[in-house]
Amino acid sequence: LKRAHDMLETRVEERTSDLSETNIRLTREIEEHHRTEAALRQTQDELIQAAKMAALGQMSTGISHELNQPLAAIRSYADNARALMDHDRMEDVRGNLYQISELTERMAQISAQFKAFARKTKGQLVSVSLTAAVENSLKILAPRIKEAQAGIKVHQEDDEFHVIADSVQLEQVLINLIGNALQAVEPRDERLVEIKEKGEADSVTIMVRDTGPGIAPEHLPRIFDPFFTTKEEGLGLGLGLSISHRIVTGMNGKLTADNHPHGGAIFTLTLPRAEATID
Ligand code: ADP
Repeated sequence: LKRAHDMLETRVEERTSDLSETNIRLTREIEEHHRTEAALRQTQDELIQAAKMAALGQMSTGISHELNQPLAAIRSYADNARALMDHDRMEDVRGNLYQISELTERMAQISAQFKAFARKTKGQLVSVSLTAAVENSLKILAPRIKEAQAGIKVHQEDDEFHVIADSVQLEQVLINLIGNALQAVEPRDERLVEIKEKGEADSVTIMVRDTGPGIAPEHLPRIFDPFFTTKEEGLGLGLGLSISHRIVTGMNGKLTADNHPHGGAIFTLTLPRAEATID
C-alpha cells in the first residue's frame, strides 16, 4: 500500500511539474499572440490612415481651388476698399470689410472640415448621426462634385438615423463610395449619385447608387480585393473598397456591391442602429 502510495505521489509530482511547464509555455504563447495582435491592429490603423491621406491627396487640386476662390475674392474686396477709402466712401468700405470677415469664416470652416477628417482616430464605436456623416462627406467632396458636374440626391426618411460607428471612419467609407460613384458618372451624359437611408429595427442601411456603367459581372467577386482596380494608373490604387470593407467589418457592419436593375452600380452599407444621443 505504501509503495503504491509513494508511486502515486511521484506521478502526481511529475504531472504537476509537466503541467506547470505547459502553463508557462501557454502564458508565453498568449503574450506573443497579444503582441502580434497589437502589431496587426496598429498596421491596420496605419493602413486606414494612409488610405485616408491618399484620398485627401487625390482631392488636393479641388481643395486648393475651393480655398483659392474666397482668397481671390478677399483680395479684390481689400483692393476695392482701398480705392473706396480714397473717395471717402466709408460705408462701402465697412461693407467690404464685412464681406472679408465672412469669407475668412468660410475658409476657416473648409479647413476645419479637412482637419477633422485628417485626424487619426482610435476607431471607437459610439452613436453617430448618419445624416451628419453624409452631410460632412458631401461637404468634403464638394470640390469633386463640382469638378464631375454631378447631381447628388439624398433621400432621407423622417427619422434622423444613428448608427454605432467611428464618425471619421464612417465618413472615410462614405467618401470612398461617393468618390467612386463620381468617378463612374463623370464621363457619362447622365451624372447622378443617389444616397438613400433606410432604418430597420436594429440596423440602418445606406445605399449609394450611380448612373455610371456599373460593375462587370466578372469583376463583382473581386471588387473588395486589395489592389483590384480597373482604373488607369494614377486614378486608382484599388485599395479604397478593400479598406472600406475592413472598416465596416470592424464596425460590425456589412458592405456589399451590386448592379442596379436600371443600370449603374449600387453599394449597400449596413450598420448596427444606435439610439440617438443627446449631445
Ligand atoms: P480604385 O477606385 O482605386 O480602383 P476601389 O477599391 O475603390 O479602388 O475600387 C475597385 C474597383 O471597383 C474600381 O477600379 C472599379 O472597377 C470598381 N468600382 C468601384 N466603384 C464603382 C462604381 N461606383 N461603379 C463602377 N465600378 C466601380
